[in-house]
Amino acid sequence: MLITHDTECALSILVELLNTAPEVCGAEKLPDLAALDAFVVGQEISEIDSLTGDDLRQVHELRTRLREVFATESTEAAAELVNSIVAAAGTTPRLTDHDGHDWHIHYFAPHAALGDHLAAELGMALAFILMAGERERLRRCEAPDCARVFVDLSRNRSRRYCDSRTCGNRLHVAAYRARQRSAEAVPSA
Ligand SMILES: [Zn+2]
Ligand SMILES: [Zn+2]
Repeated sequence: MLITHDTECALSILVELLNTAPEVCGAEKLPDLAALDAFVVGQEISEIDSLTGDDLRQVHELRTRLREVFATESTEAAAELVNSIVAAAGTTPRLTDHDGHDWHIHYFAPHAALGDHLAAELGMALAFILMAGERERLRRCEAPDCARVFVDLSRNRSRRYCDSRTCGNRLHVAAYRARQRSAEAVPSA
């Protein structure tokens, strides 16, 4: 799969962003500018000027649109969404080796608003996934009461659950208990 390290980093920010939504957490995880600012710092998003209420609204809207990409049933539908997300952001691809990183491409326009910055970077990361024919790696957790999304970068695309501690472990425990119960149900000869 032709997914670069930079794309992987962007996909990780994408997943973190999508999993802040109220439909995932039961409550909005980015309710105000302080939370949004903490997200920017935590995800090491560079070249962001001070945030305003417009940024918060734009990021919430973008998050909804990005999540729709995970719900598409075809690459055509996903491509259409990604194209419109990226087009609305306006991109100016440029090479950079800022902060000691290797040379990589920034797609966001310099000092773009946070929403446009994320739309360009995360939209392009999704574009690379689609271009590689890997839309099915964009997954929603299969745990019954979990709405988190993740990108399955495992070699054999076998991941079914998000990496929240509860999902993977809880289901392993449930499967273990079920096996134990059925073992106990077998009458010993
Ligand atoms: Zn960079
Ligand atoms: Zn989950």
